[in-house]
Amino acid sequence: MTDPARDRARLVVASMATDAADATDLLRALGLLDDAPTRRRAAAHGTHSGAVRHRQTGTRVCDECAEAERAYQREQRRRNPAAARARDARYREAHREEIKIRHRAAYARRAAAAREAAGGAA
Ligand SMILES: [Zn+2]
Repeated sequence: MTDPARDRARLVVASMATDAADATDLLRALGLLDDAPTRRRAAAHGTHSGAVRHRQTGTRVCDECAEAERAYQREQRRRNPAAARARDARYREAHREEIKIRHRAAYARRAAAAREAAGGAA
C-alpha cells in the first residue's frame, strides 16, 4: 500500500536531515516512518552465527562454519581463560562416566597409583 503524498513528504523531510539517523528521527517524530518489522538476515556461512544456525536447525555444520566456530572458541578461551576452565570443569562433572569409559586405561593407572600411595601412607 503506497501513498504518493506520503512518499513525497518522506522525501522532503529526509532531504532536510543531516544524516540517516537524523532522517529516521524526523520521520518517526512526524509519523512518517512505517515501523514494519525488519526481516533478520540469515546467519552467513563461515561465521559463529552460521554454526549456531546449523545447530538450531539441526543441519550438519558445514566446513566453513566449523572452522569459524573453532576460531571463535579459541578466541573466547584466549579472552577469558577462567571462564573456559569453569566450562571445562562443568563438562567433566556432567560427563564423568563417559570420560571414565573413554580414558579407562589411564584411570586404572591413576587409581592404582592412588591406592599404592594411600597404602604406603597408611
Ligand atoms: Zn555453514
